[in-house]
Amino acid sequence: MSETLTIALSKGRILGETLPLLEKANIYPLEDISKSRKLIFDTNHEHIKLVILRATDVPTYVEHGVADFGVAGKDVLMEANTKNLYELLDLKISKCRLMTAGVQGQELPNRRLKVASKFTKTAKAYFAEQGIQADVIKLYGAMELAPIMGLADLIVDIVDTGNTLRANGLEARDLIADISTRLVVNKAAYKTKYEHIQPILDMLNGAVSAEA
Ligand code: AMP
Repeated sequence: MSETLTIALSKGRILGETLPLLEKANIYPLEDISKSRKLIFDTNHEHIKLVILRATDVPTYVEHGVADFGVAGKDVLMEANTKNLYELLDLKISKCRLMTAGVQGQELPNRRLKVASKFTKTAKAYFAEQGIQADVIKLYGAMELAPIMGLADLIVDIVDTGNTLRANGLEARDLIADISTRLVVNKAAYKTKYEHIQPILDMLNGAVSAEA
């Protein structure tokens, strides 16, 4: 087996906070990721490569063992198939909350609820756990529109400052989970490449502790 270690990173908001953390752990790409169209990057360590993926694809690459490590939000991991993953470290970046939200001041109807979300698996599990009957409708974006247009009574979405909700006449209701970015590793890689994985883990652990 190749001793190369591949770390899958989530592009977008998380990437901007992940790269400085990796740098503190003395891992950095040999070229500027933000200025390149490439998806695979060499690093200052010959055996460590970075791949830049859509956040929801990160667990899939690690689950299948084609990437050894992954950096992904807890929200994404809760939706993903993670039976071949270990969640090793809370990187404590890109913190936010997964919440229910509805139209400001509007009471919930006395019937089976309609809930719109990108996070359908998590939303279904949450309402089932609460003993609330709910049909969950999958959306891919602009969740805030759903209650306004009458598609749903509630949404389940990521809330940071709450500005997006407020700007659309919505209010946060119940907390489902506190979210932050996690480091995951493929279970098989963790065993077979342990000697290479452990030092990286130690470096990242140090970088996270230094931030705290
Ligand atoms: P805010 O208006 O600050 O509450 O931000 C809410 C919007 O930003 C949501 O619609 C999310 O899609 C996005 N968002 C905020 N924080 C994060 C995060 N840590 N990870 C992913 N998306 C986020």
